[in-house]
Parts: sequence; C-alpha cells; structure tokens
Amino acid sequence: MKQSIRASVRTRANDCCEYCQAQASFSHDSFSVEHIIPSSLNGNDDLSNLVWSCLSYNNIKYTSTTAIDAETGQVVPLFHPRLDAWADHFEWSEDSTLLTGKTPVGRATISRLQLNRFGVVNYRRVLVLAGEHPPR
Ligand SMILES: [Zn+2]
Repeated sequence: MKQSIRASVRTRANDCCEYCQAQASFSHDSFSVEHIIPSSLNGNDDLSNLVWSCLSYNNIKYTSTTAIDAETGQVVPLFHPRLDAWADHFEWSEDSTLLTGKTPVGRATISRLQLNRFGVVNYRRVLVLAGEHPPR
C-alpha cells in the first residue's frame, strides 16, 4: 500500500482506531490500514473501504461483515466506519474503560471484534489515570 494512502487514512482518523478509539500515539502496537470489506470478498483499496485500525481486526472477523446482537438475536451489519457515526453506536462506560453498544450494530461489533478484550481494557484503565482516555 502506498505511503500516501496510509497517511491519508491515518490523518482522516485523527490517528485513533476507527473501531475502538485507541490512540496510536499511546499504543505499543503499530496501527495498520485495514479493509472494511475484505479483499477476499472483493473489497477494494479505495479510501472508502479503508480504516485505521489498532490491530488486524480482519484476523478476528475473518470475512464476516455481519454479527449477531446477543440482546435481540438479530443478525446485523458490523459497524462501518465510513457509513456509520461512531457516537451513534458506541459510548463509554462511566469509568471509560468499557465500550458499550447503544444499538444492535454497536453491541454486535463490540462482541465480534472483541473491542473490550482484556489487554485493551487494562490499557484504557492506565490511560484514564493519566488523563489520556477517552480521546478528545
Ligand atoms: Zn481498535
């Protein structure tokens, strides 16, 4: 992938993961440009199909673009960073360490992409203490 495309995706996202809002400047992992619709499902390299991501969520979600919302049992599309507004689907818990789904899409995405996995929640806890989370 061209450096200029990577830079565009990164800048557009304010250097935060477009799924879990992790900030690249405080991460020990390098962020990457991921496909929203995977290449294996004919997802293209257009900016509209690219997302700035704290890890390779494609390794977690494989080729899925939908997931089940446990609360309603509905099969819903995963959060789409280009089409959906983050704040419509997600909010932080009172102590800002857990992501909460406001919608079936939000809940299913948190579950499918493991946005509240152990290491991430622990890291948020430290950043909250440092006054650096949630991102402004
Ligand atoms: Zn993330």
